[in-house]
Amino acid sequence: MCGIVGYVGEKNATPVLINALKKLEYRGYDSAGIAVLGDEDIIVKKAKGAIKYLVEKITGEIVKDSKNLSKEETEKAEAEYAAQIERTENFVKGNIGIGHTRWATHGEPSDLNAHPHTNVSGTIAVVHNGIIENYAKIKSWLQSQGVVFRSQTDTEVVAHLINYYYEQKKDIFFAVQQALKKLEGSYALGVLCRDFPDRIVAARKDCPLIVGVGKGENFIASDVPAILEYTREVHYLEQKEIAVLYADHVDLYNDEGERIIREPSHVDWDLSAAKKDGYAHFMLKEIHEQPKALTDTLRPRLVFEENRPSDIRFEEFDFDESWKNAGRIVITACGTASYAGMVARYAFEKFARIPVVVDAASEFRYRNPILKQDDIFIVISQSGETADTLEALRIAKRCGAKVIAITNTVGSSVSREADKVIYTWAGPEIAVASTKAYTTQLMCLYLLAIKMGEVRGTIEKQEYLTLLQQLEEIPQKAEKIIQELPVVQKFASEQFNKEKIFYIGRLFDSASSMECALKLKEVSYMHSEAFSAGELKHGPIALVDKNTLVVALATEPALYEKIASNILEVKARGASTMVITQDGKGAFKNCADTIIQIPECGGDLESIVSVIPAQLFAYYCAVQKGLNPDMPRNLAKSVTVE
Ligand code: GLU
Repeated sequence: MCGIVGYVGEKNATPVLINALKKLEYRGYDSAGIAVLGDEDIIVKKAKGAIKYLVEKITGEIVKDSKNLSKEETEKAEAEYAAQIERTENFVKGNIGIGHTRWATHGEPSDLNAHPHTNVSGTIAVVHNGIIENYAKIKSWLQSQGVVFRSQTDTEVVAHLINYYYEQKKDIFFAVQQALKKLEGSYALGVLCRDFPDRIVAARKDCPLIVGVGKGENFIASDVPAILEYTREVHYLEQKEIAVLYADHVDLYNDEGERIIREPSHVDWDLSAAKKDGYAHFMLKEIHEQPKALTDTLRPRLVFEENRPSDIRFEEFDFDESWKNAGRIVITACGTASYAGMVARYAFEKFARIPVVVDAASEFRYRNPILKQDDIFIVISQSGETADTLEALRIAKRCGAKVIAITNTVGSSVSREADKVIYTWAGPEIAVASTKAYTTQLMCLYLLAIKMGEVRGTIEKQEYLTLLQQLEEIPQKAEKIIQELPVVQKFASEQFNKEKIFYIGRLFDSASSMECALKLKEVSYMHSEAFSAGELKHGPIALVDKNTLVVALATEPALYEKIASNILEVKARGASTMVITQDGKGAFKNCADTIIQIPECGGDLESIVSVIPAQLFAYYCAVQKGLNPDMPRNLAKSVTVE
């Protein structure tokens, strides 16, 4: 959460900072701000709300609203916005600066609480991602020293604390280093000092921060997309490292102030991945990217013989005895990733006949977890920076568990701290609501479950080969489901005013329902819940009336009749109904208002893709309501705070 950026080089800093911030807007949009060093002073500009309000404040021109525009009009509005961002160069003639897009934790979203924050004289400016947990203590101590605070944020203490140490030696590196020693909690920081006009000091602990190494220019950013346009050479800062960036070089230090020599890593992401490519929103683009993302995640793990998949192999590790003899699988994650874990529970039980525990990382970390020697511990995090998941990973390691991480982000904290990493090769996911990360997480989990079944002898050889063949066809099945888009779009246009939306299903489908309901909540703010279909009659059915839509996931042929009965029960109470099913025999013909037909995938693999209609439904409900699905209120991607 929160995006921070910094630039030092020959270009005018303001448009570079704003363009970089725009790529991080998915991390928060409560306010935005920049600090640029002009001829003599640091000039700060901040505005409540999305980055466009900051652009408006700087240029004095209104940014055109691109809501409800045709494709051509959207492209024109975007080009105008880009030109307007270029015109922000008239703000300050300065080649060094820092910027921030905020997801507020301490203090309401407002101009005043927006970052950057400065010391009293405005000679030191700070942007921060994270939470300073002992800020109240530091604040009252600084107040006792006569410091007057202007905001309610935890971050402001950092600016004043750095100033306190700066007064001792007039050395900004020393001042930052000393201040960091006093901070508890999490931070990624960018610091600008008027008296050191050639450098930015940056540091991180428990929040991500990268340094982009360019030619005659260098950058800091919370995430890679921010700087892809300028460079692909990146240092992923490690815990408690400090970086000092100059235009022509970067120095890295550990927290003791000792120099670290490290070559930057090369990032080979496609630049178009961070652009909308003609789609109205990133969310829609990323839904459409699922067939490719699923192929990219699956293919490197399939071994082929005579053009047919014959085995699963993870380059990252061997399926050794620990898989064969494992007693339990323990999966820990947050939000969408935890729902991928819930679906995977059924997959591991079915294919590998092994008990599975799935836990929300935010719960796991505060329990006194019971882990056993023969447990296989899996964490899942798209960003690889989810604070709760990271902490759960650390606890599991302290308990002696070997941790396998499933993540989409190379170089992320989770990927560095886990014992083994499985990457979902989904490419950057920009929309706040996760789509392609979820289905590719499921792909990885199914691969693990099926391979584990083979290793443990719970799947016969022939069944294994059939499953591999069916897995290989999953990306094209995803493509087919996306073609149902017009039916879903029409249905959304009829249903977006419903008061309550309930997703129901049994077994795999009851787990998938949770992700379907979450998607709708996240982007359309409609009240949606997931219930195991069989549980409806034990309470939730009391909620059903004519303002209710019930969506049933029905991918278990053996349970079609049961689900059909559930649909009739809610229909009898006035609900509208939709069914997502591969049934071709007509089990739901006479009961559901709308049927979304998904292709047969075989072997319970439908759950990898059955969420896609629900993703589209959530997207179109949000659009119908005039909302921006890429930037849902109160949310941010990559939850790096507790
Ligand atoms: N705690 C800071 C604030 O509220 C930064 C928030 C964050 O990184 O999410 O301004």
